[in-house]
Amino acid sequence: MAEKTVFKKIIDREIPAAIVYEDDLCLAFEDIHPQAPVHVIVIPKKEIPSVDELSDEDESLAGRLLLVMPKIAAKLGISTGYRVVTNCGRDAGQEVMHLHFHLLAGRRFTWPPG
Ligand code: AMP
Repeated sequence: MAEKTVFKKIIDREIPAAIVYEDDLCLAFEDIHPQAPVHVIVIPKKEIPSVDELSDEDESLAGRLLLVMPKIAAKLGISTGYRVVTNCGRDAGQEVMHLHFHLLAGRRFTWPPG
């Protein structure tokens, strides 16, 4: 069996994380190397490597992952905007092969990204 990703280990409570939100399908926790004053990782509890591996049966899960963003933003008191990013595959710089969204806030972001 393939080795668990670090995010699966967080889901299974095998390693600690600063959890900011949880429901039946999703988990969100602070990024260990924050790139902004607020940097939260939002993941599905289901093991899906990236956006590229989402299937039609994940439609409601994919919707939930987006719907939790404003809930987390409100919970954290973000009022001036935030960025939601997912890296998919090598060229995007994906390091952890468990689908995740970065929720970033607390500073101005440039566009386009580097
Ligand atoms: P990506 O490059 O999109 O795969 O991003 C992976 C993110 O996971 C990076 O921002 C890392 O800082 C973050 N990360 C890695 N390990 C942990 C961990 N144990 N707890 C929280 N965030 C982590």
